[in-house]
Amino acid sequence: MTKQLSYGQSLMAGKILSHNWSDTPVGDITQWPPNLHTAVSIMLEAKIPMYIAWGNSFTQFYNDAYRPILGVKMEPEPLGKSTFETWDEIWPVIGPMFKQVLDGETFGFPGFNLFLERKGYLEEAYFDFSYSPIRNEDGSVGGVFLSCIETTDRVLNERRMETLANLAGHVVDSKEDVLLVHHQKLAANSKDIPFSFLYLFDKESNTYKLHSHFGIGNTDLIPQELSCLNEEKLEELISKKSMVVKTTDFFAQVPTFINKSWEEDPHQMCLFPLSLAGSRKPDLIIIYGISPRLLLDESYTRFHTLCGNYLLNSYSMQKTLDNERMRIGYMQELLTQKDEFISVASHELKTPLTSLKAYMQVLERSLDPQNKASQFIQKASLQFNKLQGLISDLLDVSKINAGKLVYNFSEFNFADVVNESWDVVALISDKHAILIERNDPAVIKGDKFRLEQVMTNFLTNAIKYSDGSKPIIIRSEVEQDNIVVSVQDFGIGIALENIARLFDRFYRVDNTSMQYQGLGLGLYIASSIIKAHNGSFWVESEPGKGSTFSFLLPINGTREFRDIETDNQTYYIGNFITIRYNAEKHWMEADWQGYQNLESVQKGCMILLDLMKKNNCSKVLNDNSYVKGNWSEASDWGSEFWFPAMQDSGLKEFAWIYSPSTFSRLAAHKSVDIFFDRIKTQFFTSKDEAIEWLSNT
Ligand code: ATP
Ligand code: MG
Repeated sequence: MTKQLSYGQSLMAGKILSHNWSDTPVGDITQWPPNLHTAVSIMLEAKIPMYIAWGNSFTQFYNDAYRPILGVKMEPEPLGKSTFETWDEIWPVIGPMFKQVLDGETFGFPGFNLFLERKGYLEEAYFDFSYSPIRNEDGSVGGVFLSCIETTDRVLNERRMETLANLAGHVVDSKEDVLLVHHQKLAANSKDIPFSFLYLFDKESNTYKLHSHFGIGNTDLIPQELSCLNEEKLEELISKKSMVVKTTDFFAQVPTFINKSWEEDPHQMCLFPLSLAGSRKPDLIIIYGISPRLLLDESYTRFHTLCGNYLLNSYSMQKTLDNERMRIGYMQELLTQKDEFISVASHELKTPLTSLKAYMQVLERSLDPQNKASQFIQKASLQFNKLQGLISDLLDVSKINAGKLVYNFSEFNFADVVNESWDVVALISDKHAILIERNDPAVIKGDKFRLEQVMTNFLTNAIKYSDGSKPIIIRSEVEQDNIVVSVQDFGIGIALENIARLFDRFYRVDNTSMQYQGLGLGLYIASSIIKAHNGSFWVESEPGKGSTFSFLLPINGTREFRDIETDNQTYYIGNFITIRYNAEKHWMEADWQGYQNLESVQKGCMILLDLMKKNNCSKVLNDNSYVKGNWSEASDWGSEFWFPAMQDSGLKEFAWIYSPSTFSRLAAHKSVDIFFDRIKTQFFTSKDEAIEWLSNT
């Protein structure tokens, strides 16, 4: 019978055939039930670990692939022994299940945790198990058939990946905090890192100082400085990249380990040097406790390295950020100091100036008008007024920056503002003809004094930057519930590239700053005042031909963007936009009209997005031909929010017909800035060309 038996060529096949089975509960091999032969034969030919426990004594058979699971238990070969002899440490867990299998039950466990003594210590190991009955020919259960795949690597890797993933995404205030937060997060994985210390290099003392730690109860035992690392040892650590130390060599006394996962104390630890680019010495040294139930193998070390590198990288990034913050904070401090200085200085200057003015007035009145000195006093008065203007501008700017400019709102007719500011500038300019071409009456609520200041700023600029041979024209008209005011000159004009920055504080176009007096504050102050009135401002200008500075104020204090009609599917008509689905061309058409602001742009854009989705379009004809003024406040929203949403909803081509307003064009370009590559966008001055382009793309 033995001769006819063949179990293949494996090591265990040979061992089973030559084993003396007569001394075991299964008895002589020639007398085995046929189903045991079949099961053993299947097991021996299999490439995954398989195991049979036969009979009530659970006599064990296993294949070659199972042998690594036995580890040190293989000496002497435990073939033919009982399961509970070999696996005595886990018998309390598996014994009851084996017995149930003999009663006909089947078990399957993924990722089952067992502690095996196969490497000379209790080792944390995981298996996907299946226990099933092997039946005799009469249907009774003869034994347990076990097949399993060891999943220790997978389970440990997943656990370590989770720890690494948890390290990500923490916003903190400083590079020291980043280390603390991330280091403490490692404590959650006490199976891989039962304890840890982080040491930071301290330049002053030239030592590594304890920064954070976890896992040790009697913390006074943790050295505050890594004095065990002399220069020689440090060099060794740097060259080896890690170093294993016994805990008994590190601590003066045996420490208490807290948050332990196992009964045994960790008895080893591993040191890792972490260096930022360009550092001569490691910037950090991290020490990890090693689990007493794991082998410090390559993947364990790789995990330590990854954790360390993560800490180092976040430390490095935060360091850069901290430096940048400090630089900005410093700069801001300087700016605040400057503003405070300007504020105090201009205040201090005001008092003596007021007295001086009073003395000059007394002097002027006491002199005979025929007296020559009287003319000088008049000239001095003129210069004096300029000086007073400069000082009050400086004071205004410091108030605006500190958010302390107070507005006194009242109701008045805006036409009075136009007339009164004309009176003021006509006094100072005898060369220019200043014409009020239109001055619609409109009662508004606002700060009359401050709005007059805006008008005089625009007018004094027009006077300053034109030669007087041509007039200066003021228009103030009511349009769409707004007052739109413009001051036009035919002077030096401004190049396109300088227009966007005009309203910045202290900004002056380079070539004008030398020739004309001024601080570059007028437009900045004017724009702050207009914004405080919910208005907007813009410029049209051409070098050599002149400039038109305009601003808009909503008569009711706020602007209203009303719906007129919509079917919520193919069209929308509002008092600021008309949106239509062009079924023939299968695209959306948006027609913007008049003055827009953030609110109108957002409202119109969201309706356009909705209708585009409903009609499944990928093209938009965006007509700004009738857009006036400036809507630059909405351009950031357009690029950060709306264009991405349009792209997500399928937008591919966007034909943009320009507004005649330069500011509106600048806003258009800014809002597509980063989307230019992703959505095919083209700007046009003619609607026909836009339609042609969109039809052919
Ligand atoms: P300040 O108003 O503080 O006395 P400023 O006139 O130089 O000085 P702003 O009124 O803020 O400052 O104007 C900023 C810059 O804009 C000016 O320096 C000038 O270069 C340009 N600018 C303003 N108005 C005109 C204009 N009407 N024509 C041409 N350039 C102008
Ligand atoms: Mg000015």
